[in-house]
Amino acid sequence: MATANRALFMLFGGTGDLALRKLYPALFELYKKGSIDNHFALLGLARRPHTDEEFQKMVLDSISSEADNQEQAEEFASHFYFRSHDVTNVEHYRALSKLADELDKKYELDGNRIFYVSMAPRFFGIVAKNLKDEHVLSDNGGFNRLVIEKPFGRDYDSAEKLNNELTTAFKEDQIFRIDHYLGKEMVQSIPVIRFGNPIIDAVWNHNYIDNIQITLSEKLGVEDRAGYYDTAGALRDMVQNHTMQIMTLLAMDKPASFVDTDVRAAKIKTLENMNFYDTEGVKENFVRGQYGAGSGSAAYRDEPDVPHDSNNDTFVAGKVTYKLPRWEGTPFYVRTGKKLAAKATRVDVVFKKDINNIFAKAYLPDTLKTNVLSILIDPRGGITLRVNVKDSKQGFHTETIDLDYLQNDARASEVPQPYERLFHDILNGDHTNFASWPEVAAAWKYVDPIQKYWDETQPNFPNYEPGSMGPKASDELLARDGHSWYFPEEK
Ligand code: NAD
Repeated sequence: MATANRALFMLFGGTGDLALRKLYPALFELYKKGSIDNHFALLGLARRPHTDEEFQKMVLDSISSEADNQEQAEEFASHFYFRSHDVTNVEHYRALSKLADELDKKYELDGNRIFYVSMAPRFFGIVAKNLKDEHVLSDNGGFNRLVIEKPFGRDYDSAEKLNNELTTAFKEDQIFRIDHYLGKEMVQSIPVIRFGNPIIDAVWNHNYIDNIQITLSEKLGVEDRAGYYDTAGALRDMVQNHTMQIMTLLAMDKPASFVDTDVRAAKIKTLENMNFYDTEGVKENFVRGQYGAGSGSAAYRDEPDVPHDSNNDTFVAGKVTYKLPRWEGTPFYVRTGKKLAAKATRVDVVFKKDINNIFAKAYLPDTLKTNVLSILIDPRGGITLRVNVKDSKQGFHTETIDLDYLQNDARASEVPQPYERLFHDILNGDHTNFASWPEVAAAWKYVDPIQKYWDETQPNFPNYEPGSMGPKASDELLARDGHSWYFPEEK
């Protein structure tokens, strides 16, 4: 087992939904596996006062289903402390600095500090500034790492402003921008599937691949998140970050090595080599949607906290192309939305048809199908490859079969949750699975003209039924190129 890491975590927003639902259970898994041991402490920070004991009780409740026994859970929770802290109050940071030094000494943390800002984005910048100005950063040789939740801005300008605020206090290699999709098992598998298998690596280009389809579809509607979601929409909430990160891993050239600096360089080159659209390009290549009422469920505009005239997008589909020689003529189609027919995150790589079909002349009309490699990310990890084989009947006919691997329950239950993986990487200072500033910047520059055009024009909403796969225009986008969505229709 690798040696345990030493660190003090300062969690801004320590009593929030994300902290209690995801972050503490993830840290507990690391504790159970020995990646952190007795040399760690967590200081929870939020405005409302709580005693350490009350906070530890919240932590115990949040990990109760994960604990092997009560003693183990209590030992873990005993490392948690709480301070009432208003992030806008400079005085509060001075007290924090003193307490951090005490915990550092008590747990022998070598001065290592992880500042995790799990709060509304408007606080990200002020926290970073105050940490530096009030000397909360460690200065005795330990590391200082800043972890920032999403969303990172709402357009390029606001993201740049935020980044400038952060970089007055932290250097780029101290900043970890969370995109929790990068913590998913099968997203992390993409580079291995591509570069770890010569038979796949060899055909991963426009000579063999006809198009690549990326789907992030949800069955749920906006639920209780309308306050945030109605100001963001699917393009900002899902495309600029998660979808683009997955697409980049699929499209990037082979990094010089798999260390984080080389992977980042490959990803940045890929993002900067997308063909950015002007207004005409947006009109032609991007489709937006909003769900109406149907099958007993309410229209988006009738959901709680959504204005009745909202033009917010709950669905996006688009065609992305690259200037990279590898992808000349090969489009990437992306699609994401709410209230769709299936809950799925997946990639379907559609290969070109064999143009020299020797069977057609002897026996068959054109019955061979394209090979399709599917990378299944959610809800169950897996890979399938559609291949043509001869069928078992008399005469000469073909059929397709799927060579498939699907995680079984035992494996699925072993897979670390994204936040556990990401915490592990943060402790090790590994940036491979975090978004760098140039990546975030390029993604916003791509998305901005789309959002701008949509903000300036009146959509014809609602335009898709709950339980469908989005508006007709999404199918037409592919049909125009002679393509169709592989999932779920053909299955
Ligand atoms: P939340 O509203 O549940 O929690 C916010 C926390 O901040 C609370 O602990 C609150 O007490 C504290 N807080 C608010 N104002 C404060 C102040 N002035 N000083 C000190 N503390 C203050 O939010 P959340 O859902 O946990 O989300 C946190 C971050 O994570 C946000 O950036 C959000 O976008 C992101 N995020 C959350 C989720 C999720 O599933 N909850 C998913 C993805 C990203």
